[in-house]
Amino acid sequence: MTKKFRVELIKDRCKGCELCTSVCSRHLLKMDTHLNHKGYASVTIENMDACIGCINCALICPDGAIEIFQLEEGDKE
Ligand code: SF4
Ligand code: SF4
Repeated sequence: MTKKFRVELIKDRCKGCELCTSVCSRHLLKMDTHLNHKGYASVTIENMDACIGCINCALICPDGAIEIFQLEEGDKE
């Protein structure tokens, strides 16, 4: 069975540095035009189903704004 992952973006911690977008080998992370409460363009994700759970994005984020969870069967995405 293919593993599935949930990428949780804590947008109000994001400072828009774009480090995470550069390390995602699947190119899933993009910058949003919507500004967070600090006034930064924050990160967003397209096609979360394609996430392979490598956690590169979470490891590189200097602000702890990304968390990755592996979904168990029956979990809500
Ligand atoms: S865990 Fe890996 S594949 Fe998933 S969004 Fe982050 S960098 Fe991309
Ligand atoms: S690495 Fe962290 S702070 Fe930088 S754009 Fe990504 S989520 Fe935002």
